[in-house]
Amino acid sequence: MKAAVVREFGAPLVIEDMTIPVPGPGQVLVKVEASGLCHTDIHAAHGDWPVKPQPPFVPGHEGVGLVTRVGAGVTRVGEGDRVAVPWLGWACGACEQCASGWETLCRSARYTGYTVNGGFAEYVLAEAAFAGIVPAGIDPLDAAPLTCAGVTTYKAVKVSGARSSDLVAVFGIGGLGHLAVQYAQIAGAHVAAVDVVDEKLDMAKRLGAAYTYNGEQTDVVQAIQGLGGADAAIVLAATPRACEQALASLRPNGTLVLVGLPADNIMHLPIFETVLKGLRVVGSLVGTRVDLAETFELHADGRTQIVRETRQLDQVNEAIAEVEDGKVEARLVFDFR
Ligand SMILES: [Zn+2]
Ligand SMILES: [Zn+2]
Repeated sequence: MKAAVVREFGAPLVIEDMTIPVPGPGQVLVKVEASGLCHTDIHAAHGDWPVKPQPPFVPGHEGVGLVTRVGAGVTRVGEGDRVAVPWLGWACGACEQCASGWETLCRSARYTGYTVNGGFAEYVLAEAAFAGIVPAGIDPLDAAPLTCAGVTTYKAVKVSGARSSDLVAVFGIGGLGHLAVQYAQIAGAHVAAVDVVDEKLDMAKRLGAAYTYNGEQTDVVQAIQGLGGADAAIVLAATPRACEQALASLRPNGTLVLVGLPADNIMHLPIFETVLKGLRVVGSLVGTRVDLAETFELHADGRTQIVRETRQLDQVNEAIAEVEDGKVEARLVFDFR
């Protein structure tokens, strides 16, 4: 099979021929139809974060395809079923986090495209219990972005506590942000979208954002405070500055939800303002299997739209450059069909 492999941090990915893996007990082999390119894949390929993957590895945690082979003991899915292979590749099911509905925080979890090979390949292995079941009628090219960008922002909106009449500020409108804008509205909130690229703000407006601000041309904090402040701010932009602006945009009792992971890793958090305004700061990492199923259900019901463009796997390095240069409106998806 053809796969895009990270051989060395910071070097271009290499398209290689690899042996098609054989599913072990509890696993399935998935013939990939579509695979989204997430910023996390780029950070993985650069070795940007404190906990690093081990080259060589195959990135990709938005792989969607058909089950072609089933390992021993698998009953949940069968050959021909369309499944998604998300970031949460496996969790132990027994620890305190797993047992309390927070399997995403399992300390023994395996991460697809990071600690186990991912979906930038014609075939990928999945743990059957952790594969997302893609409802009939969802285009695999749409299912791919939902598998990370969708579930991650859906969960972030849940964690934000957003509800009707709230104002939710979304910082960073791209693959994740364009979906956050939609989930916040599904929760009943109004949205203020912030980005530094006008085309992305136009997209947010098309998707229903009530307010849009260019962070380089407007004093975003003043603008959002002028609306009374945000009840919640969700930060998808991977810069400490966006996190700091988002915090300063909150109204008393507001919640800052951190999702984007800047390579710099540190933000400035003013304690006085946080205490006096009773602010909450919370991190949100992808979503559980239930969150993913709900994300798919909303899309199957026609309540979300995916903005994406397709590329071929051979163009992986060009695609990464496009994302890094901010040239991509929302999501790039590798089309394997
Ligand atoms: Zn991702
Ligand atoms: Zn666990």
